[in-house]
Amino acid sequence: MLKTSTIVVGAGHSGLAMSRCLADRSIDHVVLERGEVAHSWRTQRWDSLRLLTPNWMTRLPGYAYRGDDPDGYLAASDVAELIEDYAKESAAPVLANTAVTSVRHTGRGYVVQTDQDTWRAKSVVLAPGASTVPNVPALQASVPCRITALTPAEYRNPSQLPDGGVLVVGASASGIQIAAELHRADRPVTLAVGEHVRMPRTYRGKDILWWMDAAGLLAERYDQIPDLVRARNLPSMLLVGSTNRATVDLNSLSSLGVRLVGRMAGIRDGVAQFSGSLANTFALADLKLGRLLDTIDAWATETGWDGGHPPRRFPPTAVAAPAPLTLDLRSGEIRTILWATGFRPDLSWLDVPVRDRKGRVRHDGGVTASPGLYLMGMPFLRRRKSSFIDGAAADAADLSGHLAHYLHAN
Ligand SMILES: Cc1cc2nc3c(=O)[nH]c(=O)nc-3n(C[C@H](O)[C@H](O)[C@H](O)COP(=O)(O)OP(=O)(O)OC[C@H]3O[C@@H](n4cnc5c(N)ncnc54)[C@H](O)[C@@H]3O)c2cc1C
Repeated sequence: MLKTSTIVVGAGHSGLAMSRCLADRSIDHVVLERGEVAHSWRTQRWDSLRLLTPNWMTRLPGYAYRGDDPDGYLAASDVAELIEDYAKESAAPVLANTAVTSVRHTGRGYVVQTDQDTWRAKSVVLAPGASTVPNVPALQASVPCRITALTPAEYRNPSQLPDGGVLVVGASASGIQIAAELHRADRPVTLAVGEHVRMPRTYRGKDILWWMDAAGLLAERYDQIPDLVRARNLPSMLLVGSTNRATVDLNSLSSLGVRLVGRMAGIRDGVAQFSGSLANTFALADLKLGRLLDTIDAWATETGWDGGHPPRRFPPTAVAAPAPLTLDLRSGEIRTILWATGFRPDLSWLDVPVRDRKGRVRHDGGVTASPGLYLMGMPFLRRRKSSFIDGAAADAADLSGHLAHYLHAN
């Protein structure tokens, strides 16, 4: 059996950020990775994907963006390269092609079984990614079998889909990007819209994420917000990274010709049924955007920020014609369904009793109830930005500090 002080599971940016902080504290560790470094960015992203966070937000412990386009948005392949460079520069002790198949707690620490070896360690950091398993609703079982179904993790480009119409379910960041791309490829696209987080790409001359960062909204802490459970389950922000920094939202998609329908509520006898409350869904997202802009404007006034761009408000999301409430999936109009209905982590190999009723790992800002077991990279783990690349540095600094105390005391 091999031994080390700490095992980090996963060599994405979260695991590598933690590895860098452990190395800075001279904590002996290995990073176990089932594929190669940045495996998710190599295998689970579509061809045209760019980061929705501007390049200056690509910051990790001991690393800041060095390119000549800080306000641009990196392509997925460049993100994989950047993370690989970061691993090399950090001399991260990564064991690639080593899948963890079980983690157990024994009296003296953890036994980590992989498909290569067995390891013993006093502490374990789980950084396997929050977006590994696409959430496909049970409705999928009722989709007529002639329709191709896929998720954003499987989607690569429009040529992969059979000719004909596409129903994209979910107006998440992934859903709107793929809907826009399919529309540009002359596919008739219907987008089923549930709760969403509307965002303009730019506001008062700056990227909206610049404002959120400057006003401290991305750094808001998990133990200082009123409804953490809700915050952790919010859908992704409707943002797209592109060379022209255009806002892609439901208004722009609908004016291009994407048909918007309500949340997909069921499929009966091959007919998809959509919620009739699309107008309310739009109104709620518009209201929340208004509140965000109010907060930003208040911050700008308080700090005396003067960028020469006065406050403004965006037109409400338009309800063009009454949205259809049903769509016959047997008619041949729809040939593909793309479930852009979110993701969840895969921790099926974790044999430590730290889960809640829904199978999610319970934790307090990444510290689990099992001594020496930590979690990284989950939504709002310790801060609003925890699931962004830019959130890993602060979280890894905090959690490696906790872990160092734990090792010292045990
Ligand atoms: C479509 C999409 C777009 C995104 N866009 C942005 C963006 O613009 N900006 C931003 O900041 N964030 C973005 N994110 C969020 C986040 O940055 C990514 O999800 C990122 O990949 C998370 O990094 P991670 O290190 O936490 O997890 P991952 O990158 O998923 O890395 C986890 C690693 O763990 C490995 N692993 C998992 N299980 C095991 C096991 N049992 N044994 C060994 N290894 C294992 C995996 O192979 C993987 O390499 C996006 C996410 C998605 C899904």
